[in-house]
Amino acid sequence: MKRPSAKLKTPRATPTPKRARRPIARRAAAGLYALEVFSRLKRAHPEARCELDYETPLQLLVATILSAQCTDKRVNMVTPVLFRTFPTAAALADAPREDLEEIIRSTGFFRNKAKSLIGLGKALTERHNGEVPDSMAALVMLPGVGRKTANVILGNAFRKNEGVVVDTHVGRLSLRLGLTKEVDPVKVEQDLMPLFPHEDWALLAHVLIFHGRRVCDARTPKCKMCVLSEICPSSAV
Ligand code: SF4
Repeated sequence: MKRPSAKLKTPRATPTPKRARRPIARRAAAGLYALEVFSRLKRAHPEARCELDYETPLQLLVATILSAQCTDKRVNMVTPVLFRTFPTAAALADAPREDLEEIIRSTGFFRNKAKSLIGLGKALTERHNGEVPDSMAALVMLPGVGRKTANVILGNAFRKNEGVVVDTHVGRLSLRLGLTKEVDPVKVEQDLMPLFPHEDWALLAHVLIFHGRRVCDARTPKCKMCVLSEICPSSAV
């Protein structure tokens, strides 16, 4: 009779196939890299914050809508008069279109923005008693409010980290830094969220935006003075 082989008597633990191990290792490395990027950016921009001037959730919502295709600096020049003239959602709902357009004209796309602000005032008055809701689901139902704007409001006015604000700076830096391969903001956000601590998502957007405005410019990134130059895959240094 044939004797059983030693191999059968002493079964060895099945090694994890290399193919299955690699993604885990890659994810861990990506997480460590992302945290190093975040740590360096926080040190480089300790003053990073929302650069729009506001005192209430409604003011931030209005300012964020106006900031589309416009600088925060320009928006901050317009909002003091706007907030004084139309201080509540009801006042925005009843605003004469021409008056509103005149105040916000310098922010660009003023006709569309005026339409959005009047629609916003009406929706807030009719559906939310004039208050800005603090949930993603309710915010994205408001006129002129998409996921990016909703993330700005939740993260800054309500201190809720439900997502990451992906504007033009965050999108550009995420690509250059190799944190994503996507260009669609929703997909970029999905790539960023698992890489960074949930409680830091609002701050993450602030430091990326600060860095994008001051160092990693769209046309001429200042790689020589960038704190990420040794680790950034797009560094020109
Ligand atoms: S090294 Fe250059 S490309 Fe990379 S983040 Fe810094 S400025 Fe941008």
